[in-house]
Amino acid sequence: LSFSDIGLAEWAVNTCKELGMKKPTPVQCHCIPRILAGEDVLGLAQTGSGKTAAFALPILNKIAEDPYGIFALVVTPTRELAYQLSEQFRALGSCLNLRCAVVVGGMDMLNQAQTLMKRPHVVIATPGRIKVLIEANPDIPPVFSKTKFLVLDEADRVLDVGFEEELRVVFQCLPKNRQTLLFSATMTSNLQTLLELSANKAYFYEA
Ligand code: AMP
Repeated sequence: LSFSDIGLAEWAVNTCKELGMKKPTPVQCHCIPRILAGEDVLGLAQTGSGKTAAFALPILNKIAEDPYGIFALVVTPTRELAYQLSEQFRALGSCLNLRCAVVVGGMDMLNQAQTLMKRPHVVIATPGRIKVLIEANPDIPPVFSKTKFLVLDEADRVLDVGFEEELRVVFQCLPKNRQTLLFSATMTSNLQTLLELSANKAYFYEA
């Protein structure tokens, strides 16, 4: 299969080629068509499998069709991962006028609130900081009211570090009809609970 076979637009196929991605990896072949079709996905895949592009590419495809408001909220356990994810989004979305914001601890909260108020297309956040921003500023929850995608990257680790409470606060701001994409290296009982909480009829991919 090629990147066009799995439903990506021509600009995305070309960007992949420029980035040296010759053909889709297994997690990309299985998950991209499902995400483009509007399904929720639970993907069990390790770092290095191409899982970031497996959710970033279909999200960027949808943004290119309808660039309105905050489009995707990506939650990841650490600051380092948040910056790595934003680099991949920026590289894969280099032909779009993509506005991608990183919202993590250690940075100025007022700036972060102002950035969110400008409604970037993609927000990449750690659970603690996004929760504090949502709770501290009544203008923030409405910013997320039309979000199309919630991605939980490294979902097993997000739960390991005990972020259930933070995630509940975040879930409450998002519309019910969003797509939920969970990616995790392992299946844990926590993840099962999260799945029930967030999206209970997801397409399940296991490497
Ligand atoms: P990840 O699993 O998201 O941590 O991705 C690991 C690395 O694989 C990243 O540096 C990507 O740029 C790269 N990558 C993702 N998809 C492909 C692909 N289809 N072909 C070659 N490299 C890829």
